[in-house]
Amino acid sequence: PPISVAEIRKTFLDFFESKGHAVVQSSPLVPGNDPTLMFTNSGMVQFKDVFLGTDKRPYVRATSVQACLRAGGKHNDLENVGYTARHHTFFEMLGNWSFGDYFKRESIEWGWELLTKVFGLPAERLLATVYAEDDEAYGIWTEIIGLPPERVIRIGDNKGGRYKSDNFWMMADTGPCGPCSEIFYDHGPEIPGGPPGSPDEDGDRFIEIWNHVFMQFEMHDDGSLTPLPAPCVDTGMGLERLAAILQHVHSNYEIDLFDALIKSAARATGCEDLTNPSLKVIADHARATAFLVSDGVIPSNEGRGYVQRRIIRRAIRHGYKLGQKKPFFHKLVPDLVQLMGEAYPRLAADEQRVGEVLKAEEERFFETLANGMEILDVALANGQKSLPGEVAFKLHDTYGFPLDLTQDVCRERDVTVDVAGFDAAMERQKAAGRAAGKFKMDKAVEYSGTSNAFTGYDELSHSSKIV
Ligand code: ATP
Ligand code: MG
Ligand code: MG
Ligand code: MG
Repeated sequence: PPISVAEIRKTFLDFFESKGHAVVQSSPLVPGNDPTLMFTNSGMVQFKDVFLGTDKRPYVRATSVQACLRAGGKHNDLENVGYTARHHTFFEMLGNWSFGDYFKRESIEWGWELLTKVFGLPAERLLATVYAEDDEAYGIWTEIIGLPPERVIRIGDNKGGRYKSDNFWMMADTGPCGPCSEIFYDHGPEIPGGPPGSPDEDGDRFIEIWNHVFMQFEMHDDGSLTPLPAPCVDTGMGLERLAAILQHVHSNYEIDLFDALIKSAARATGCEDLTNPSLKVIADHARATAFLVSDGVIPSNEGRGYVQRRIIRRAIRHGYKLGQKKPFFHKLVPDLVQLMGEAYPRLAADEQRVGEVLKAEEERFFETLANGMEILDVALANGQKSLPGEVAFKLHDTYGFPLDLTQDVCRERDVTVDVAGFDAAMERQKAAGRAAGKFKMDKAVEYSGTSNAFTGYDELSHSSKIV
């Protein structure tokens, strides 16, 4: 049988341990004390201060399998889930680091050794990109590794924004950053998509599997760069993408772990077509939201909690689309724990609480979901290509539809949402709220001691409530 996800994790860590790396545990999805970042979006997050030189560790080489979330902030893949073969919101990143120790050559050589010798990937299917001006990395790929020059592609920082590719990696708008070199796998000509740096690079034929970042700078608020105390290496490889290759499937959603989770979603929703994209969304989002609850993120109306709420509600809406009228989403939790509890014991320990939090959010949203969907259906009944901002705002305000959920439904019907109109409606309500608040204060001053002067408060708190 092909190698399992659990075996891939172990093989990766063992390899870098044999190269003198300390094996470090995955850190929580909520970064400790870092206001520049909403969620841990890569393996380097827990080492940010080590790169900057303000934190010291007893090791100069480290390796980990890091739980990551990309749903908000600089790296946001929420809109990709259900549409591409390679994106999740929650995923696991295999990484290795050098803190002022080895640099480009070892990073690339070990990466190549692991992929081709240990995991046995066919070299002729692999391509590399380098930062446009990085002749050193280009030379390592072409001369030391021996990749044919036509499979080593120079990519800039995409300042012109022509394509999506960008070989200058940044954790967030500020912080450690540097040029990078990425390894791609060619899944074959039967899949649509072009090589990195080409106009149709967004397809799923050439899939990026491993990013090697040569951390050398700190980006500051004003956009200036200063050198780090020492050049460092930061690599990240998507576990699910590597597993897809090693298990001879194309999509992340076909690997052992996702196959099981999609079947779980199918059982919970009664959907018989296992290729239905809604099952992918539900499976992905169950994983993300379960890990978020376990790491202390409870659905709420602001900040991280609102991202959590948005992900849960998106998943519930996909279940509704499959005919679910009652809570179903939390039923995936035991299967998820079965699949991932061994690698993440904290998730296993939190199983019951995770199920309860998800179920409570489902019960709440199911109270308004059907009515909101009806409003949306009516608004789009005449084949409009744009949903008025007023309607999107009403759905948000009264029916608890986050804007991105409404957009997700509209996208399926080839309809865009008037976001400017939504913002304007939101702004009007806030202004009305401020005016009412001011009115209340004035009254309170005028009629101090009376409590019946103002009746707008209840209306206000009702209308601004997100159910
Ligand atoms: P892509 O271009 O495919 O969106 P990326 O360039 O945004 O990927 P990096 O920031 O370079 O990704 O992260 C390092 C690695 O993590 C990627 O090479 C990929 O293997 C994996 N990865 C990134 N985003 C995701 C995701 N949303 N789901 C699964 N794996 C991911
Ligand atoms: Mg990306
Ligand atoms: Mg990329
Ligand atoms: Mg990348």
